[in-house]
Amino acid sequence: MAALPPRPAPTVEAIYAAFEANAEDGFRVHLGASLIGKECQRALWFDFRWTTRADFSGRILRLFETGQLEEARIVRDLRRTGATVLEVDPESGRQWRVEAHGGHFGGSLDGVALGLLEAPKTWHVLEFKTHSAKSFAELKRQGVRESKPRHFAQMQVYLHLTGMTRAMYVAVCKDTDEIHVERVAVDPAAGEGLLVKAGRVINSARPPERLSTDPAWWQCRLCEHHSVCHDGAAAERNCRTCLHSTAIDGGWHCAKWDRMLTPAEQRRGCDHHLYVPDLVPGEAVDAGDDHVVYRLNTGATWIDGRAPC
Ligand code: SF4
Ligand code: SF4
Repeated sequence: MAALPPRPAPTVEAIYAAFEANAEDGFRVHLGASLIGKECQRALWFDFRWTTRADFSGRILRLFETGQLEEARIVRDLRRTGATVLEVDPESGRQWRVEAHGGHFGGSLDGVALGLLEAPKTWHVLEFKTHSAKSFAELKRQGVRESKPRHFAQMQVYLHLTGMTRAMYVAVCKDTDEIHVERVAVDPAAGEGLLVKAGRVINSARPPERLSTDPAWWQCRLCEHHSVCHDGAAAERNCRTCLHSTAIDGGWHCAKWDRMLTPAEQRRGCDHHLYVPDLVPGEAVDAGDDHVVYRLNTGATWIDGRAPC
């Protein structure tokens, strides 16, 4: 019998456990500009509809934090070159934010800068990312548009919604601390296309088609929604997965109770939750006020909601 791998030291386990204990559920109120470059629109719909709770290990959560901590260093580094860097909007005192589609789509900029050595008179959107050595080498070889299309899309959304014409992408290699910078010009057609894509996802009552029907397709294997999408796993129960909810300008509306829902209420849901039928692996064969009867793909019958007496 193969020997079990050694357990991490108790201290390491405790550090990772603390990250897991403090982790959020991964349900973002809006569809994020950092996600909109995903190729699969179905995955974006699942993100927006909170079908899948985030489940990252403590080590990975700490890695995310490493990326966030790097941002302050990059700001300092840019200031040392003589650039003016504004991490927050002086008017609001908060991070620069862009929004569209009634507040359902948006994101936060890492900053804006003037006085960058490559083009001192032009305001730039700033985007900071850390990379593994492999990813960094690809970035240097191919450029951000080719090697990191999601990052490129994120910057195009920011450019489109701020009206700026240039972004500076600052990448740091986590293995060597080498820095790569790249200026990105606004591409109006790309920005417009991404806004249209976001609108389609937000306004669709049903999940879009799969990127691939093959569960072993490489993007599907890496997708956090794989089990809901391909394996018939149950989606999370909350208002976003309920057929009574709709994203409207400024928030989410429940048709059952005819009122708007706060993000906290959306997370809680209520006893009258009924799944969006496309999230149930089967066919709806009957329905009443408070229930839907499904014939599942397994052949079994399942009643979602309050079964009639
Ligand atoms: S598993 Fe594949 S088809 Fe399904 S949401 Fe993810 S990427 Fe899209
Ligand atoms: S019926 Fe309940 S779970 Fe469904 S949207 Fe309304 S409050 Fe949320």
